[in-house]
Amino acid sequence: MSTRKGIKEADQVALLTRCRRRCCLCYGLKKDTEIKRGQIAHVDQDPSNNKLENLAWLCLDHHDEYDSKTSQSKKLKKGEVTHYKKELELLYAAEAKIPIETVNFSSFDNNDDLSRAEVIKTAIELIDGLVTYKKPDVPTFEDVRVDEWYYDYIESAVQLGIVMGCADDDGNLTGIFSPNDLATSKWVVKVFLNSFGFLPLVSD
Ligand SMILES: [Zn+2]
Repeated sequence: MSTRKGIKEADQVALLTRCRRRCCLCYGLKKDTEIKRGQIAHVDQDPSNNKLENLAWLCLDHHDEYDSKTSQSKKLKKGEVTHYKKELELLYAAEAKIPIETVNFSSFDNNDDLSRAEVIKTAIELIDGLVTYKKPDVPTFEDVRVDEWYYDYIESAVQLGIVMGCADDDGNLTGIFSPNDLATSKWVVKVFLNSFGFLPLVSD
């Protein structure tokens, strides 16, 4: 593998274990999940940007195609790499059987009753959901304002297909999220299953 200077050992390990040395472009374009000899690529093609979210494990062929100067003609987009990287990582996150002790609810005062916003924050932190997050132009929910501490977590959960917000009796989305309502246990289970990609997208 590449031993590029500047990428922290811990970040290399995190990257390689999350994708299990599968190439995210092989997976995304061909559903090929064979283990590949590969190299760490810089998603934005800036070799000095060694942040974990900017790194991807690519097979040697895709690394050449993506990271070399001639890559422009191939038109492999940065967004393709980040999208398939996240898909691939979620695929294995579901298999990782993350022990329940690693779910950190302790940052909240009221350990017995969690608000819906607190549950979403916990789920998004667990799956590193903010890594691919892009702030939307317009808030999705009228009761989740951009200056609230939970804004980015909830919008990220929408982007990842974990939640859609509240629906009325006819199943139509209302544009409401009710972030400060207490989370029901049924809803918590649904959020965590969705977070690991087990369930199709559903409204409340
Ligand atoms: Zn590949």
